[in-house]
Amino acid sequence: MNIILLGAPGSGKGTQATRIAEKYSLTHISTGDIFRENIKNQTGLGIIAKTYIDEGHLVPDDLTIRMVEERLSRPDCANGVLLDGFPRTISQAEALEKFAKIDYVINLEVSADRIVKRVIGRRSCLACGGTFHIDFIGDTKVCPTCGKELYHRADDNEETVTERLAVYNAQTRPLADFYLGKGLLVNIDGDKDIEDIFGDIVKAVEND
Ligand code: ADP
Ligand code: ZN
Repeated sequence: MNIILLGAPGSGKGTQATRIAEKYSLTHISTGDIFRENIKNQTGLGIIAKTYIDEGHLVPDDLTIRMVEERLSRPDCANGVLLDGFPRTISQAEALEKFAKIDYVINLEVSADRIVKRVIGRRSCLACGGTFHIDFIGDTKVCPTCGKELYHRADDNEETVTERLAVYNAQTRPLADFYLGKGLLVNIDGDKDIEDIFGDIVKAVEND
């Protein structure tokens, strides 16, 4: 089974992605995490990607598509993947159709006013991919899940978030209609709490 998770920055996409991947034994592929790993290791891809990510813009389609196609060709993807952050444009979605068959597209819908606050207070762990909000974890630098170091993403500031939301509305939101037309879209209310959202996703997938 292959699942796409769609949702604005700060929609809680990463949190749900981890849970869905675990429940259905899918390999969790987060393009944002892959880019951040490349930035940390200063690879050629990372150096290019950073210039876009720091501005809140999308990394160009050709680079992103090639990266995902390569990642999906590896053996750990054969039994199914959970795509988190890809596709983000119609061109990426069209390219994906050539190298993967998608079973569900879960669209996490969150009201816009919550998003900026969530993202600015977000702290991330590169080691386990976890994200946490300072309202819940306080000022710690230690990941509550794995004990490694937490960090504040360079693009999780008010200015960049506003730009990322604009990019989401212009380039990524149209994917909901694209997948609705293919009969793959599942809309989920992302304003509920984490467990309820996850329950709704499981219901939608299992009652299909
Ligand atoms: P969020 O969903 O919180 O914005 P991600 O970790 O998914 O964060 O992505 C962070 C950044 O990485 C994006 O703002 C964008 O610059 C880049 N990125 C991630 N996925 C893609 C993609 N599919 N296409 C282009 N750029 C991407
Ligand atoms: Zn961690």
